[in-house]
Amino acid sequence: MHIFETISLLKKFLAEVRSQQKSIGLVPTMGALHEGHLALIRQSLEENEITVCTIYVNPAQFNNADDLAKYPRNIKSDAEMLQSANCDVIFCPSNEIMYPDGNDKSIKMDLGDVTQVLEGKYRPGHFSGVGVVLTKFFHIVDPHRVYFGQKDLQQVAVVQKLIRELFFKLQLIRVPTVRDQRGLALSSRNSRLSEEERVTAAKLFQTLNIVKQTLLEQPTAIKEAKEEALSFLRKEKKVELEYLEVVDANNFGTVSDIHNHQEVAVCIAAYIAGVRLIDNLLL
Ligand code: AMP
Repeated sequence: MHIFETISLLKKFLAEVRSQQKSIGLVPTMGALHEGHLALIRQSLEENEITVCTIYVNPAQFNNADDLAKYPRNIKSDAEMLQSANCDVIFCPSNEIMYPDGNDKSIKMDLGDVTQVLEGKYRPGHFSGVGVVLTKFFHIVDPHRVYFGQKDLQQVAVVQKLIRELFFKLQLIRVPTVRDQRGLALSSRNSRLSEEERVTAAKLFQTLNIVKQTLLEQPTAIKEAKEEALSFLRKEKKVELEYLEVVDANNFGTVSDIHNHQEVAVCIAAYIAGVRLIDNLLL
């Protein structure tokens, strides 16, 4: 496995790969890797000859300094996990390399309506930071395929738009969410929760399932489905809900009848013991 910290060395390596007509898969991550990330890595390894995993905690996509400071970082165990998964390349640049101006907010990106709701609304500037850093990675790596988790479904919709509108010649692959045995979506942030708090966090999955079941039976009963789920979640005193919404999975627009859309998702964001978690289910 190769580990690169500079753009020039990575590009030199990838130029050689490309000259041998080999396909390149890119898996962007912020590290603190778990089985969810590894699902992306494994799929990329199956579908490409070379897999590049980026590990970079991108300051531009954090709107909360405390969240950025507390974000778990563990490059050593990440490298070990990637090595045993047979990943080919790690790219782990510094902030100085990714933002040569010294200011991670010096470029901003407005990716339109899909970034105005849910995560975009509650984390102002988040998708601008995501769009900028991914544009940089797409230019540096120039992959054939890029892998994202369904766990961050709105990010998938935003990146689809970025690829389409900026004419990036690459394919986005969405990988299903990996969960623990209770249904809790794996997340790097889960490491900040106690065992008891993780049990509470798994209630978010149950909440999503209540909405899903109701809507599969009554496709227009959005309000009722949400109310039923919320009355379940209200019993959990440690959960501070931010949003629970039913949206079109492609553009994150509103839904009044789930049958009128190609793909519909129910999305949730909540704080548990001060840790912000998100999850979603496709209907
Ligand atoms: P992150 O390191 O949180 O930025 O995540 C990097 C990538 O891994 C993103 O595409 C995430 O959607 C994906 N990912 C994170 N958690 C999971 C999970 N539990 N299942 C599948 N993919 C995930």
